Amino acid sequence: NDEDLYCIGCGAKIQTTDRDAPGYTPESALKKGMENNELYCQRCFRLRHYNEIVPVGLTDDDFLKLLSQIRDADALIVYVMDIFDFNGSVIPGLHRFVGNNPVLLVGNKEDILPKSLRRSKLKDWLRQRANEAGIHPIDVALVSAKTNQSVDSLLVQIDKYRKNRDVYIVGVTNVGKSTLINQIIRQNTGKADLITTSRFPGTTLDRIEIPLDDDHFLVDTPGIIHAEQMAHYLNGNDLKIVTPQKSIKPKVYQLNEGQTLFFGGVARFDYENGPKNGFTVYAENNLYIHRTKLENADSLYEAQLGKLLSPPSTEEDIEAFPKLVRHELKTAKKSDLVIEGLGWVTVPEGVVVAGWAPEGVAVILRDAMI
Ligand code: GDP
Repeated sequence: NDEDLYCIGCGAKIQTTDRDAPGYTPESALKKGMENNELYCQRCFRLRHYNEIVPVGLTDDDFLKLLSQIRDADALIVYVMDIFDFNGSVIPGLHRFVGNNPVLLVGNKEDILPKSLRRSKLKDWLRQRANEAGIHPIDVALVSAKTNQSVDSLLVQIDKYRKNRDVYIVGVTNVGKSTLINQIIRQNTGKADLITTSRFPGTTLDRIEIPLDDDHFLVDTPGIIHAEQMAHYLNGNDLKIVTPQKSIKPKVYQLNEGQTLFFGGVARFDYENGPKNGFTVYAENNLYIHRTKLENADSLYEAQLGKLLSPPSTEEDIEAFPKLVRHELKTAKKSDLVIEGLGWVTVPEGVVVAGWAPEGVAVILRDAMI
């Protein structure tokens, strides 16, 4: 029937279709919950039973309400982002909502960085890009939520900067915010009733509160959905092939002008103009990189998308995959051509190249990191 059901934990409307949206409940759990008259959404169920949080995404509208409450709070804001997808990590308008609150910028997924990359360089770059987006972080931390690397020292930093205030953790979906919070929860286990939920006043949004040792809370906010991420165009399996999973091993390609590299079917790099040169590719180690002639590249892509050039691999994903957009760039010095969410190619100075990415996914040039 179409009678609306609500989670008794967070109040979200129960739905069974969108895993990433509030109120998601698998069909099987829905039946069981109704039988027992105890219907929780999956997120609240896991929280109750495993002390584990599940990511949930919001539309912009709900998120704006949430942000305006953060503006009125007196708190430290911990802004979690994916170091492989700066653009895809940006919370639109965040700078207007932080008010006078300090922001601690956390770059997550450090485990993916090649060993040779100087961490201080990356931090500087993150700070610079944050400044461009109007955010002036008091500090920048690099962590890996997945491997628990530097999460300890992050907690020390949080404690230092919060100065007996609450802490709000914010971030868009897919940056690893839930993984990070789960690590924090794990490090704090032992206390009974460690986490509680409550509402953001005036909204149906739930917040998760982890008590700190002085009557203040670390508050996890739901993640906003940022449509311009590779993650939204691929299914889970394909995404694993494209997103770096562990420390990247650089690969060098000697290219003549007029040569192209395909990254599966999700991105492309053209060497347009310059002498024969070495180009170093930093991408997921198992992603298939196909070299071809630039003049054949368009027709190859058309004929081979989803076959030789995959992912995308399922018919559904191929059908829905956005077309690749070309970004031509000329280097004044040794630079990284960054394809957000995927990785980068180090390009020598004084050449012309083009990076292609799905429509909406950013392609940018930065000073070479290595
Ligand atoms: P959320 O939507 O921000 O809560 O993100 P999740 O915690 O669900 O993580 C999104 C994806 O990123 C998942 O596939 C995680 O396994 C992965 N992930 C999260 N943290 C890390 C990390 O530190 N390193 C790596 N390599 N992957 C991570």
